[in-house]
Amino acid sequence: MNEHITRKIDAITMPDPLGRAPEDDPWHAFRDIERIDLALEFNFRHSLGKVSRFFLELEQHRLMATRCPHCAKVWMPPRALCADDMTITEWIELPGRGNLEAASLSAYTLTTGGGDAELVLGYVRLDGADTLMLQQIRNYGDASALEPGLAMMVAWAEQPVGHPMESFWFEPA
Ligand SMILES: [Zn+2]
Repeated sequence: MNEHITRKIDAITMPDPLGRAPEDDPWHAFRDIERIDLALEFNFRHSLGKVSRFFLELEQHRLMATRCPHCAKVWMPPRALCADDMTITEWIELPGRGNLEAASLSAYTLTTGGGDAELVLGYVRLDGADTLMLQQIRNYGDASALEPGLAMMVAWAEQPVGHPMESFWFEPA
């Protein structure tokens, strides 16, 4: 800590890497190096896009998928366009129940800052959906019990969270 420059660490004199005497070092006048401590912080303000209703409805504890009016495929997570035939989809609400397809213990830190350093991510096929949703799995007890086909249900965070996706997870029903 320096009384004038709060982020100053120190000033050090770097040696000539070629070991020359100061009078023979052409960089002699430039070898005093100040070091400062910088903390970089990035904030991103971004839109959640056409599927924002999905995130907004999470605040009301509703899981919204989209259904293609042409082929009837139900997309969860929702897509604004059916990826199979490019038809604009429509919103439907899904019950928060389904079955586990796969789960993995992950050494993954959420970029949004919440959650644990180690977590279980799982693919859940929600009742009424034709696609799989990747989300956190919690309250599973013994991880070896996370077998494909296990009945799952949605659970909602009781405390405020930083990102809408942290407001729910799946757990064994
Ligand atoms: Zn379709």
